[in-house]
Amino acid sequence: MTPEALQHARERLEGMRAEQEAIIADMTTGEEQVIPSDPHHAGDFSDDSADDADAMSDAETNMALVENAREILDQITTALARIDAGTYGLCAICGKPIDERRLAVLPYAQYCLDDQRKQEELAGATTPPAPPV
Ligand SMILES: [Zn+2]
Repeated sequence: MTPEALQHARERLEGMRAEQEAIIADMTTGEEQVIPSDPHHAGDFSDDSADDADAMSDAETNMALVENAREILDQITTALARIDAGTYGLCAICGKPIDERRLAVLPYAQYCLDDQRKQEELAGATTPPAPPV
């Protein structure tokens, strides 16, 4: 990965980190605040979880969103540490470069697609819904 690409990834990750921190701050300081649906959301990832969200109360939705944001924040922090360590863009399991198109969509991806699938199989169907990109 070129220094320019790394710098670009770092800037994107820092922007995403600020977004997630803002979400957590909003959801944990207000009373039953609910995030309006993201108009930029492509809707490619969460057709199923949208139905689930409808069935949940606002408070439960808030909890889920905060947990999801915290999880993403964790992954963003890890990705930024990996940039510093010089291992960013390499699969944390097999060490092969992660597809650049995958990183473009998910800058904090830690695994190549193959290993991501294996991880998800191991974890069962408990993967959080994909965040808006
Ligand atoms: Zn891998």
